[in-house]
Amino acid sequence: MTTTRFAPSPTGFIHVGNLRTALMNYLIARKAGGTFILRIDDTDPERSKEEYVDAIKQDLEWLGLHWDRVERQSDRLDHYADAADRLRKMGRFYEAFETPTELDLKRKKQLNMGKPPVYDRAALNLSDAEKDALRAERGTGVWRFKLDHERIEWNDGILGDISIDAASVSDPVLIKADGQVLYTIASVVDDTEMGVTDVVRGSDHVTNTATQIQIIKALGGACPRFAHHSLLTGPQGEALSKRLGTLALRDLREQGVKPMALLSLMARLGSSDPIELRSEMAELIEGFDINRFGAAPTKFDVQDLFPLTAKHLQSLPLSEVAEAVAEAGVPADLAEPFWAMARENITTLGDLKAWWDLCRDGADPLIADEDRDFIPEAMALLPEGPFDGETWGIWTKAVKEATGRKGKGLFMPLRKALTGMERGPEMATLLPLLQVIRARG
Ligand code: GLU
Repeated sequence: MTTTRFAPSPTGFIHVGNLRTALMNYLIARKAGGTFILRIDDTDPERSKEEYVDAIKQDLEWLGLHWDRVERQSDRLDHYADAADRLRKMGRFYEAFETPTELDLKRKKQLNMGKPPVYDRAALNLSDAEKDALRAERGTGVWRFKLDHERIEWNDGILGDISIDAASVSDPVLIKADGQVLYTIASVVDDTEMGVTDVVRGSDHVTNTATQIQIIKALGGACPRFAHHSLLTGPQGEALSKRLGTLALRDLREQGVKPMALLSLMARLGSSDPIELRSEMAELIEGFDINRFGAAPTKFDVQDLFPLTAKHLQSLPLSEVAEAVAEAGVPADLAEPFWAMARENITTLGDLKAWWDLCRDGADPLIADEDRDFIPEAMALLPEGPFDGETWGIWTKAVKEATGRKGKGLFMPLRKALTGMERGPEMATLLPLLQVIRARG
């Protein structure tokens, strides 16, 4: 059975880059009728915070990315210790004692000599007595996994055939000197024991994947299918990594972006499929195919979310936005005509209040010099209330007959006088609303 997971480290709020990973894994699981696991990668006790675990769950729920179960790495430390013991017994695990400064120096030397900065495995040559001495002097060492120096190959769902020379990669540290288990081994143990069949993650994990494939094999597990999506860049192709902090999902929600707008964009961005607003998650699931994504960096422009949000809002009945309409100050009995008028003219629900203020307080009329006489003349012809959907047509017809104006020369001055703006809602829908509200005055 298809099983995927989204495995964030709870060290911050999740952003659009994380969403791309979460969504792809979610869609694969749902399309196959499989299981989607939310795995909290919290083996780092210093940096992992409970508030971020809660925030990650809230953000995913807001988007409707429901998980089938939650797993926490901090609950599974005994499984990792067990795997580490097995690797030790196999002779694939060794203790190394270099300090960060020493490692840095080695790397610099290698680079100076034009060599790749790969760990030189000096620790493999230490005798037991030397290790005891180093341990006495420096404390416990780190534990590194001994890679087999052969090519590591896999067929990537996005990148295609990948082949990495293990000798070009440092033996990964799997356990830190303080005993903290690192993600590289924890993830392998979890993916294997939880029967994860498909792993989609960012292309910054490609080298990890190579080493993890060897660890999985050493531990006798089955390799999942891997796919590495490209990283997001800004609209001009600039690196987004530093700005991702400002693209947290909760900030987007705060700015009025709607889940279906965000999901419609992120489920297709970087693929050969067109980006279209979808109204249901089911449509996104149905049309999703990881193989249609390209390896090239993917441009992301936060501004693209707003037209999609506007379009989504336009499609909604009042019942879905009643709360926001009420919050804007609109009385319940006017909510229906107000929403009918406003929904075509907002980008986010945050814009509702300005329209309501206009209906309630009126606008400063915008009257051009050449219309100074025209406006009072037209106002004198306004029919008696109550206004309805027909009133605008009846009124403008009468004004046309009396003044000889037509087309834009007729409508635009009236719009500007009533709304103070050159663009906005259909006047036929707005007019009854203005009058009802003024009449209550
Ligand atoms: N916790 C890892 C990360 O956030 C998970 C990577 C993975 O999907 O394996 O980068």
